[in-house]
Amino acid sequence: MSSLPKFEDHDKQEVKYSTCYMCACRCGIKVTVEDKKIRYIEGNRDHPINKGVLCAKGNAGIMKQNSPAKLSTPLLRKPGTKRGEGEYEAISMEKAMDILTERLKNIRDTDPKKLAYFTGRDQMQAFTGMWATQFGTINWAAHGGFCSVNMAAGGLYTMGHAFWEFGDPDWDRTKYFMMWGVADDHASNPIKIGLEKIKRRGAKFVSVNPTRTGYQAIADEWIGITPGTDMQFALSMVHTLLKHDQFDWEFLIRYTNSAYLVVNTPGEKGDGLFLRDEDGNPLSWDMEKEAAVNANLPDINPALFYEGEVNGKPVRSAMVIFAETYLDDKYSPENSAAITGIPAETIERIALEMAHVAFKETIEIEQEWTDYAGRKHDKFIGRPVSMHAMRGISAHSNGFQACRAIHFVQILLGSVDCPGGHLAKPPYPKHIPPALKPAKHTAPNTPLKSPPLGFPTAPEDLVIDDDGKPLRIDKAFSWDAPISNHGLMHMVITNAVKGDPYPIDTLMMFMANMSWNSTMNTSEVRDMLCEQDENGEHKIPFIVVSDAYHSEIVNFADLVIPDTTYLERFDTISMLDRPISEPHSACDAMRQPILTPDRDVLPWQDVQFEIGNRLKFPVFVDKDGNRKYKDYKDFVVNWEKEPGIGLLAGWRLDEDGNEVHLRGKPNPKQWERYAENGAFMEVHFPPETRYYRHANKDYLTWAKSNGWVGSTDQIVMELYSETMQKFNLAGQGLYDGLMPTEQHHKDRLTKYFKPLPEFYTPLEQTRIDEEEYPFHAINQRPMFMYHSWDSQNAWLRQIISQNFLYMNREQGEEMGIEDKSWVWVESHNGKIRVQVKLMEGCVKNTVWTWNAIAKQSGAWGLKKDANEAKDAFLMNHLISELLPKKGDNLDNVTNSDPITGQAAWYDLRVKIYPVENGETGAYPQFPEMKKVPGMGESPDILRYNAHVNGQSVQLHRSMEDILSRGSVHDNADYKNGDDKKTSGNNGSQS
Ligand code: SF4
Repeated sequence: MSSLPKFEDHDKQEVKYSTCYMCACRCGIKVTVEDKKIRYIEGNRDHPINKGVLCAKGNAGIMKQNSPAKLSTPLLRKPGTKRGEGEYEAISMEKAMDILTERLKNIRDTDPKKLAYFTGRDQMQAFTGMWATQFGTINWAAHGGFCSVNMAAGGLYTMGHAFWEFGDPDWDRTKYFMMWGVADDHASNPIKIGLEKIKRRGAKFVSVNPTRTGYQAIADEWIGITPGTDMQFALSMVHTLLKHDQFDWEFLIRYTNSAYLVVNTPGEKGDGLFLRDEDGNPLSWDMEKEAAVNANLPDINPALFYEGEVNGKPVRSAMVIFAETYLDDKYSPENSAAITGIPAETIERIALEMAHVAFKETIEIEQEWTDYAGRKHDKFIGRPVSMHAMRGISAHSNGFQACRAIHFVQILLGSVDCPGGHLAKPPYPKHIPPALKPAKHTAPNTPLKSPPLGFPTAPEDLVIDDDGKPLRIDKAFSWDAPISNHGLMHMVITNAVKGDPYPIDTLMMFMANMSWNSTMNTSEVRDMLCEQDENGEHKIPFIVVSDAYHSEIVNFADLVIPDTTYLERFDTISMLDRPISEPHSACDAMRQPILTPDRDVLPWQDVQFEIGNRLKFPVFVDKDGNRKYKDYKDFVVNWEKEPGIGLLAGWRLDEDGNEVHLRGKPNPKQWERYAENGAFMEVHFPPETRYYRHANKDYLTWAKSNGWVGSTDQIVMELYSETMQKFNLAGQGLYDGLMPTEQHHKDRLTKYFKPLPEFYTPLEQTRIDEEEYPFHAINQRPMFMYHSWDSQNAWLRQIISQNFLYMNREQGEEMGIEDKSWVWVESHNGKIRVQVKLMEGCVKNTVWTWNAIAKQSGAWGLKKDANEAKDAFLMNHLISELLPKKGDNLDNVTNSDPITGQAAWYDLRVKIYPVENGETGAYPQFPEMKKVPGMGESPDILRYNAHVNGQSVQLHRSMEDILSRGSVHDNADYKNGDDKKTSGNNGSQS
């Protein structure tokens, strides 16, 4: 060891733990600081999410901190300048807060919904949502409607949990893992760790994706699927499993509603709803009693397949309808092959392989447990097949039902929350759906009665007025998108500018780049942000942006409030929010300032806290208007959602003052305890509560005591969705309650709101000429960058600074398109000029690109002629936020999933043709963004120096050395303590 150069003087260093924010995985980090600068970032080995692993992004957090794009002062658009020109004056934070307070006070005093508040990669939605609720505006949402609400809603309306933050494969036991439509970031480190585990154990990894990149590259089998057809593939597997009698009867009877009786009176009110007793309990046919009985009673003997009459009403069990629907020939592998592009024999083989693993390679864990009815069992039975799905499935207009169809495969195999299967992550599973309804009514100076977002179960829950018109600016929870649990961020600007359903006063955005990559139809949306009425007034009168960096949306703000970086503030990663729990442990975490900001910036949490106090939100002040909490940090410790439950669940106090986790009174030392414990809390589950949590009495009792579920009743999985059927009946004019009046709404409800998913073609395809636009065009995020945040990062830019249009090599050659040539890509909505790369790992009818590499010239602290501005491109220009125009009453309807409002940006169809006259460079281009006050020049080279004794150091490591995990210790140069070789720069360049 003595031969090593003395890299570090640990006496000068301080180590602090926090949580990474370089993507949404929220890994634990250990940050070493020296001379008030970050020396390096490591993964926290004890952290449940990453167990010490740190990805390229996480490491490069240093360069985010050193970014020249950091905003350093509040900004006000200069009087007399136009919005979008980028002319700002620096103002003090106090003045910025005064301007914001006055503006918001006027809105709250008069009509709170005139504030539209939308957040992007917000990791504190529990707090921002609470703020909106207290303000009294229903117009709040985060970015989920753009990202993956279909994945979340599909799971929460079927199993009570889903993929990503809601559940995980049992990486330690699964023997067959299928990954659907997952780019390399959802989730990043956790999936890499999981894949390594299953690879080491020899489990099979099948990937379903139109492209073979990232994770798919190490799959044992890649199934190249046509985008938007995953539902057909899943339902064809359901067909195969039913046909071969390969499904778990006992699981279906015990844990799902498949034996419930469904009224079978087509064309009449009540058709397709469950037959219920006088108390509202659903009924099943008991084979011993030969009578319809309460389906929720534990000691009944229900018929899975039953068809007959009960009380004079024709009924069928849900499973009869299920079998009838999916045994239909339209779901045969042969018919599915033409739709999905997957050979029929592959569809059948994959389904039967999974059935083999589920039923012939069953796992048993000897462990006594008690079911919801108090019955003891001596083991957990495991069906070791697991899955994961993300935006590739979600971002289609049929994504909600596609996700449900994927869950059907899991449910038929009985592989839900069992050993080796797909496991819920606390606070999930929840009862179906979670018992939260979206707020509807607003009034001046009055908090909403419930949060702005929720889970409708019937038309009565819609957020519409007496004439059936939307009440929200994004038209969430309207007949356009009744189950839009995450709102429709992508519709806000378009609707606000049109004044449809009404004009707003202020659009406030946090970390949401809604003029660039977090929007569809980028060029037009940018114009809309500047649009004025006949009096010269902006149609969106005031725009407030909070961002830490000089992003494209900053240029459209009237007021900019600069945020801190993630290394400069307190944050909670709360179980009331997007949880980071593991399947067998409940977890939450925090961030703490590693560095003190050297600029006039304020964490957005603190801004909200302060504004909330000034506006006297009841949550922040007592009845006399006095502040209840000193600051945000104090609020986190002392605020309780209900007695014993706060934003952080760790180190609370029991009645005797002992520190306890999950539920307890506020503890003044809570932040310290987190800091001492590596910035996270983890509570492991007792072995008897680890599986079948939807029906596990001990788990449900515990979950209720922690506030995760509202009752200890069994969580019954919904193979058959009565919620969908209620909306369907409303479309048919047969619902006992609210019904739409416009024909296109009726048509949408009857066509898409099926209680059992039926495949439908993505909507864009039905409104364009498919022959004219023969290619599917999709985006994905790279594993080394997180949306637009990271193509500004000097280290990560060295991996890629330009995206290409990736195309199947054979396809390109057939069209005479050469590698690296420039082409036009055209959709019904516009055209872009891009550079092509040919590759093998892409299906022939699809092209794709990395999302959000492109930058507006001058944005994000980059040089004006950076590759990202000149050669990189956004696919977003081609995607319309409205359905393709056909001159009918759907022309102004959102281009989204008709059920959830999920932006259907993967439905895009394009044509491709070579440029003429040797044109090069990305099109469209935008004027250079001006620097704002407080920003320095963009450097040609941005270095972050390693150093020895004050001098920078160049580590000489060969690629072989790095790949073989060799060590600098083995380098002969250093064997004799010769550190002369260590001069030079370990720099990174812009
Ligand atoms: S996966 Fe990487 S970027 Fe994401 S939180 Fe973990 S370390 Fe950070």
